[in-house]
Amino acid sequence: MKPLLLLFVLLGGSAFAQNATRNVLVVTLDGLRWQEVFRGADEAYIDLAGGGVPENQIKATRETWLAPTVEERRRKLMPFLWGEIAARGQIFGNRDRGSPMQVANSEWFSYPGYNELLCGFADPLVTSNLPIPNRNVTVLEWLNGRPGFAGRVAGCTTWQIFPAIVNVGRSRLPLWVSGSAHAALAPKSPVFAEIARWMEDIPTKANDEHYDGFGFRAALEMIAVVRPRVLYVALGEPDTNAHARRYGAYLDSIRRCDRFVRELWERLQALEQYRGSTTLLITVDHGRGRTPQDWKDHNKKTPGSNETWLAVLGPDTAPRGERTDTPPVISAQVAATVAALLGENFPATDARIAAPVVDVLSRR
Ligand SMILES: [Zn+2]
Repeated sequence: MKPLLLLFVLLGGSAFAQNATRNVLVVTLDGLRWQEVFRGADEAYIDLAGGGVPENQIKATRETWLAPTVEERRRKLMPFLWGEIAARGQIFGNRDRGSPMQVANSEWFSYPGYNELLCGFADPLVTSNLPIPNRNVTVLEWLNGRPGFAGRVAGCTTWQIFPAIVNVGRSRLPLWVSGSAHAALAPKSPVFAEIARWMEDIPTKANDEHYDGFGFRAALEMIAVVRPRVLYVALGEPDTNAHARRYGAYLDSIRRCDRFVRELWERLQALEQYRGSTTLLITVDHGRGRTPQDWKDHNKKTPGSNETWLAVLGPDTAPRGERTDTPPVISAQVAATVAALLGENFPATDARIAAPVVDVLSRR
C-alpha cells in the first residue's frame, strides 16, 4: 500500500478526519433569550410591573446592567461570550443583524427542545415535560457507542427530567443529576458526595431541579473523574428566574452561567487531553416572549418562544465572530454539528436528522 493511501485509510477516509477537535463540551442554558445575549439587559424590564424588580432594587439593577450601547451592555452580562467567543469563535442568532435561528418543534418548551437539539430532529410525539424515557437516540448515546467514545460521554444537569431525555436506562451514560433520587447514576467520588451533602443542606423551592452552582461543581468533578471526550452540561436558573418574573435575578443568573462556562473552558485548556483539541458549543432549548408582559413565559401561544441562538468556539471553527446575514439555522442541527466536529456522521444513522452547521466546521 502506498504511504499516502495508508495514511488516508488510517484516518478513516472521513471528510472530517482532518479535524483538530477530539473533545466537545456542550452547554445549554435553559430559556435564555437571544434578546439578552445580543442586546444585553433591557431597561424596559427593570421595573416592578414587567420585570418584577422590587422598587428598592431598581436603582442598583440599572447601575449594574445598563450602559449606553448594546455592545457594552451585552459584554457586562456575558463577558466570556463577548470577549473570548466573539473574538475566536462564532455566534449565531442575532435577528437584529440578519442571523435567525429557531427550533423546528412546534411546542416551544424544554423536553421537546432538548430532544430536538440532542437527537437532531423534532419529534411530534414529544409534547410534555413528563419524565418519559426518550424513544429517540441522542447524539450523546450514539457517540458513546462509537469506537473511542465508550464510557467517555458524560452529562451534568440540575433538572431532574434529563435522565428521561437521555434515556439513561438504555444509554447507561454517566449522568450527574441534582437530587438524591438520581445519585446512583453518577460516578462515585468524595467530591460528588460532598456536593450531595451541600444540596441536602441548601434545599431549593423547586421540586424538580437544584441550583446551577452545584451542576457547575459537578461538571468540574466529572472532568476530573471521567475525563470525558464529550461532556454535556445543562444549566437552568435563567429559565427558573424568568418564570418567576424576576428580571434582576434572571440577569444575575445569566452572568453566573457565563462565568461557569469560562471556568469550565479554562479547566479544560489547562489539561493536556483537552488543550487545543476541544470545541465548546453553547445553546438553548427555546426562547421566551418578546415583551415585558410575556417574557416570563414560553409556549406555542407566546410569539418568540421558538427563537434560539448558538455559540461555537474551538480549533476547527473560523473566528468569524458574531454572524450577520446568515441563512436560517435550526436547533436540530446542533446534534449533527457535535458529531461532525468529532469526525462522526450522525445524520447517516437516520434520515430525519438535520445536517450540521457547516460554517463552524471550517477554519476558513
Ligand atoms: Zn426550558
